[in-house]
Amino acid sequence: MIQIVLFRDDLRLSDNPALWHAAARGPVLPVAIADPRESPGAAFRWWQYQSIRSLGSRLEKQGIPLILRRGDPVQTVLELLAETGASGVFWNRRYAFRAREQDRTLKMALRALGITAESFPGNLLAEPWEVLRKGDLPYQVFSPFWKALQDRVRSGTPLPLPQMSPPTTVPESENPDLWGWCPHHPDWAGKFLSFWEPGESGAHKNLDTFLESALCTYSDGRDFPGRPCVSRLSPHLAHGEISPRQVRQRLLDFTERHPHLEQQAGSFLRELGWREFSWHLLYHFPHLQDTPLRKEFLDFPWSRDPEGLHKWQKGVTGYPIVDAGMHELWQTGYLHNRIRMVVASFLVKDLLVPWQQGAAWFLDTLVDADPASNSASWQWIAGCGTDAAPYFRIFNPVTQAEKFDPDGTYVRRWLPELAALPVPLLHKPWTAPEAVQAAGIRLGLDYPWPITDHGEARKAALSAFESLPPRNGTGRKLSRNSTIPGGEEG
Ligand SMILES: Cc1cc2nc3c(=O)[nH]c(=O)nc-3n(C[C@H](O)[C@H](O)[C@H](O)COP(=O)(O)OP(=O)(O)OC[C@H]3O[C@@H](n4cnc5c(N)ncnc54)[C@H](O)[C@@H]3O)c2cc1C
Repeated sequence: MIQIVLFRDDLRLSDNPALWHAAARGPVLPVAIADPRESPGAAFRWWQYQSIRSLGSRLEKQGIPLILRRGDPVQTVLELLAETGASGVFWNRRYAFRAREQDRTLKMALRALGITAESFPGNLLAEPWEVLRKGDLPYQVFSPFWKALQDRVRSGTPLPLPQMSPPTTVPESENPDLWGWCPHHPDWAGKFLSFWEPGESGAHKNLDTFLESALCTYSDGRDFPGRPCVSRLSPHLAHGEISPRQVRQRLLDFTERHPHLEQQAGSFLRELGWREFSWHLLYHFPHLQDTPLRKEFLDFPWSRDPEGLHKWQKGVTGYPIVDAGMHELWQTGYLHNRIRMVVASFLVKDLLVPWQQGAAWFLDTLVDADPASNSASWQWIAGCGTDAAPYFRIFNPVTQAEKFDPDGTYVRRWLPELAALPVPLLHKPWTAPEAVQAAGIRLGLDYPWPITDHGEARKAALSAFESLPPRNGTGRKLSRNSTIPGGEEG
């Protein structure tokens, strides 16, 4: 009997427990359903389209069709059951609130009909409810979570590509080209394919390249956006083209052959730990995406600054490291972690724009848009999350640039209009307008003056923070040693 396998945020064939178990039961019918009520970000959608097409061709090579449908997922599965006579439906678990509710409804509907409905862990190293502190409470601080997680990582090696037999009945499939997931007028994703190879084989190639050429410099180099030291695996992980278990196992195998890289591998695995921690938080605190975890921040006197937000989005703030970052984001759908922190801090602390507005822009423009890592990170930057950066720790965009882009490689790459400027002028052109003019760059015409004075903005941010009621657990009371995701702060 045919077994339906749902593909959602797990667009891969290997280490896919749902596919593996379904294939062991009988012929498989892989299905991807686009729910028109869901509106993920546009860049995420672009990647999803490419990845679904890539999954479809991989399946085709195995003689298996991928069925694509648009509609309410529960209703669509019921229709497919009626069309094919399938006896089971298999999927890998999702952890965001609405997705979990939908999967629960589906499971109940199927079981009421006597259809096998089975869900599996596939997208995290351990289930969020398996890693708990004393009293069965969720962790709110990264380091103890990370320590506990390592004892709970699911054992066993990742699953290989399963042997699959094709379904006897093949229902109609839709053409995803008609879903409008790729931009046309204008085609803002036009250059994306020169930076990325979406799909399972692209994910594994990316990991191979990272292991062979960048792991050796990871812990020291990962904070320098101008150097090729990070893995750029985040979109592949966000779309489930590779599982964290596969990444971890490859790393362990690689360091067994190259034991001198153990420390580098350890710091890389710790970053994967931040991804797990973010999902742990989103699972246990479902309002993480829009509500500050520290309640006193509900009263924070944010400013309504649509113009500031717009200039930040466009990358015309007059702070080169911020603008370079926002240009990288727009042109590639990705942003280096150090720069994510710098631009996010600039928005919420220099401009006092609510963090939710920055998080929403990231969700729309990042190809790796991930509701857990994105919300947890924005809350961390704003100072209102668990284990967050103390509010008074405000990134200075100039010193960050001088420290982490010391030779200006990053800023020159994404702001070619400033390429002629030498460091340190490159990172603060407004301090010597005549020298800038002599290099052929007119401030206010070729590149903007700063939209705010960082020193003044810092004072305003601290005074807004001081206006919060001094309750227990406010940013003011946090330790200066709070853990920092993505490295040490400069
Ligand atoms: C404001 C802000 C928003 C963010 N939004 C997202 C998002 O939407 N999606 C997303 O995947 N990451 C997000 N991050 C986390 C991090 O910046 C990216 O995961 C990382 O830059 C991806 O690049 P990489 O794959 O080369 O990272 P590497 O350094 O190679 O790390 C390997 C993997 O570890 C995980 N990871 C690394 N750093 C973090 C982190 N700080 N938090 C959680 N996981 C991490 C990612 O899965 C990453 O692919 C955000 C960070 C900030 C500060």
